[in-house]
Amino acid sequence: MKSNLLKKITDTNKLYFPASIKAGNIFYQYKNILDFYQKNTTLTTNKFDEALKNNLVLCTFFEQIDTQYIENLLKQIAAAMPHLIEVFRRPVTHLSEIETIVPVDMAKHITSKTVRHLMSNSQDWECIKKSKITPKNVLTKTYDDDYGIYENLVFKNLIDRILKLLKKQLHYLIVALKIYNESVSIDVFSRINHEQYYKAIGNLYSGFFNNFEEIETNALTKKIKQQLSLLTKYLSHPVYRKNITAKSLGSDIKQTNILLMHKDYKYVNKLWKQLGNDDVKEEEIDEKLQAKAQKAYEKYCEYLLIFAVRNFNFNEQFKFNKWQMTIKNKKILTVDIEAIELTIKHKKTQTKYLIVPCSYYFKKDKTKYYQDIKNKIGTGYDNIIITHPFDIDYTDQALPISIIEINSFRYFQKLLLEGMILTDNDKNICAFCGANLLENKCKKCRLNIQNNKCSTCEHNYISTKVDGVAIENAPFKTINKNCPNCKEESNL
Ligand SMILES: [Zn+2]
Ligand SMILES: [Zn+2]
Repeated sequence: MKSNLLKKITDTNKLYFPASIKAGNIFYQYKNILDFYQKNTTLTTNKFDEALKNNLVLCTFFEQIDTQYIENLLKQIAAAMPHLIEVFRRPVTHLSEIETIVPVDMAKHITSKTVRHLMSNSQDWECIKKSKITPKNVLTKTYDDDYGIYENLVFKNLIDRILKLLKKQLHYLIVALKIYNESVSIDVFSRINHEQYYKAIGNLYSGFFNNFEEIETNALTKKIKQQLSLLTKYLSHPVYRKNITAKSLGSDIKQTNILLMHKDYKYVNKLWKQLGNDDVKEEEIDEKLQAKAQKAYEKYCEYLLIFAVRNFNFNEQFKFNKWQMTIKNKKILTVDIEAIELTIKHKKTQTKYLIVPCSYYFKKDKTKYYQDIKNKIGTGYDNIIITHPFDIDYTDQALPISIIEINSFRYFQKLLLEGMILTDNDKNICAFCGANLLENKCKKCRLNIQNNKCSTCEHNYISTKVDGVAIENAPFKTINKNCPNCKEESNL
């Protein structure tokens, strides 16, 4: 009896997450991580480094390149494009009849209902003289194009799928090209800045540079951009715009006459089938699978953090100069997540971060859930960082850390750099490259540490920039671009 009661009290304290097929399915991406963990519950740094060369894969980014698939996809879309544009321009609509009461000057159609309505609604009379009614308002019919027919919902869904597919491929190609170009056109300055980065990439996947076809990738990128900009031009057309809130359809669509016979809609139907079902299959939501996915993702984040530390100055004892890093697992019962406590210490100053891997998928209430998680964890940390494995949608609320995203480990490294700079009261050694700092500036890698006072809220804070380099080119070295207190952009 007593234990039951106790359980209930704890339960109301706990934050529950919605089950979703999408979150469960990430298990298959991270399965190998969990397998590795179960075989290696105790792990030394040496064993970890060794495993990276053999069976521990922390990044599947490069396995995804499939130019044949992209070529094929583009060909199918290009073939359907003239028909898609025709549907944008001249969609099939349903003419709907709406009865409204309008001022008499505006009425175009008078029907039998008009008279009946007028007789029984004296508020719509202007006046009545000798039993003759002069109307003020009349009931009339108006006609409007209704874009919401089923075939147009299919069309709208198809356009969304195309946009999503193209954007995803474009992102991938652009990142791959960027990594490639940086690596071949590396100057002295960049060499210092990116040395650790390329070493790390090499450790993640060494075959990449040997198999990369720059010209082919450039051509594909150009083609995707062309199709994207063509489609984007038509998104303001009513057949798309008026269905913007329509719900997404499952993979199997009804084969209506319009979809089978209409000269343009039949290509909508064809392309829909060609694109296949890229969304998850309609399976039962399996909570056990979701729990396993969460476990695997927790381990992945832990390993990636260790990887980030090991590929960022720190030695086997997690030491670098006067800095000491500690990584510890921490089970957070209120959210049922095994988080990672990251402590960065410089002499006697330390900062404590809590990294909370969260593989649950929040469709709409993302911000609310992330805030709830932070509230449940409470105080005791200088920063609570939630990570999620889904599409890059960078918000201030959570970090996108995923096995298919090449830059994931850099997000962690940025966190390390931030902690190192914030705990360092001496400012003698550059936290990024280890060279000497002179008046908060590093001559070698051009890191420049600044003491700021926010002009809006007067908060004192430290930020960094890289001298002579735009923020977009050094995002992982730029900390506190905005005031951490009020989020106002710094005026520096
Ligand atoms: Zn430096
Ligand atoms: Zn401020």
